[in-house]
Amino acid sequence: MYTDAFLIEKDQFSPWLEVLHQEFRLIGPIEENGFYTFAEIQSVRDLALNYDTTMLGPRKFIYHPEEKICAFRKTPEGFEIEPLGKAAPQILVGVHSCDLHAILVLDKVFLKKGFQDRNYRMWREATVIMGIHCTGVCPNCFCASMGTGPLFEPKEGYDFLLTDFGDRYLIELLGERAEKFILPLKLQRATESDFKKKQEIGRKVENQFKKKIDTTHLVDIILRNQNHPVWKRTAEELCLGCTNCTMVCPTCFCYNQKDEIGFDLIHYERKRYWDSCQELHFAQVHGGNFRFTRMARLRQFVTHKLATWVEQFGCFGCIGCGRCMTWCPTGIDLTEIAKEIMVTEQNKTIRMSEAQQFENG
Ligand code: SF4
Ligand code: SF4
Repeated sequence: MYTDAFLIEKDQFSPWLEVLHQEFRLIGPIEENGFYTFAEIQSVRDLALNYDTTMLGPRKFIYHPEEKICAFRKTPEGFEIEPLGKAAPQILVGVHSCDLHAILVLDKVFLKKGFQDRNYRMWREATVIMGIHCTGVCPNCFCASMGTGPLFEPKEGYDFLLTDFGDRYLIELLGERAEKFILPLKLQRATESDFKKKQEIGRKVENQFKKKIDTTHLVDIILRNQNHPVWKRTAEELCLGCTNCTMVCPTCFCYNQKDEIGFDLIHYERKRYWDSCQELHFAQVHGGNFRFTRMARLRQFVTHKLATWVEQFGCFGCIGCGRCMTWCPTGIDLTEIAKEIMVTEQNKTIRMSEAQQFENG
């Protein structure tokens, strides 16, 4: 796989993106009413690459909140399947390390060996990803604890990685597609000292994290404590079942389907739309609901993100972006839930060791 790294002046970067814009939809962070959001941009001038965080990650441009997954029409002979639309080539500009990781997590869900989701694969392949390293930390970010930031380490899943050096960017490339885009620019190649500078930026950001979580025994601790009082108390006193947490989470992938039949009774479409494990209907099956209580639903969300995801996909389902707690109307924080459980475990260990010492005289 081709890899290389160059330096690009900011004066040169914007015109280059404008040229790419002639061929690609450009999607990136913009400022809107005092908040940042990922949106399709009309002009490169609208990009706000020094953004802190967004309510929704760029997931929505690859795995759409609602999309058609099948269509057919009735004909005199029977039924005819209608072709689905094609993905428009697009560039996601300015994706932070946590959100790049979230896309890698979704890749594991939708592009597993033996099962490939047609729509996800189509949009993923049509999407050029240009990541950018964070230069600051939001109060609810804990990507450093989850191993997903602040610098992007895995060598997969992106085309370009930018690091802001003030008047220019270090631009790292991965793959032939990226090479083709950058070659005409005849840029200066990055040197070892540029990479040292990048690591230095990473270290400075790492020191700014206020929120942390120890993941060493996290999976076992969460699984051992499914009856801990924190679940019931938090769910009954605070959780409104509003689903904000799952809607903003960049790794949530659950969807439901609906069938729509045209008024002409000829055209038929099946659509899927994002669903949420925090909805009562989500666990409704023939014979009953297997997560009837709010406690069961909240516990499912946190347990899946911090524990059972690991067995299912080989990584945590949480990339530490902090969005679920930022947008939870009552401020429910899954790291605080996990920490309360950890404290109980520590106290248990202390009591056991004291009892042991007492027995030993
Ligand atoms: S669980 Fe919360 S902090 Fe973790 S990835 Fe999802 S939204 Fe971000
Ligand atoms: S956002 Fe908060 S209140 Fe709403 S369902 Fe999630 S945990 Fe409950």
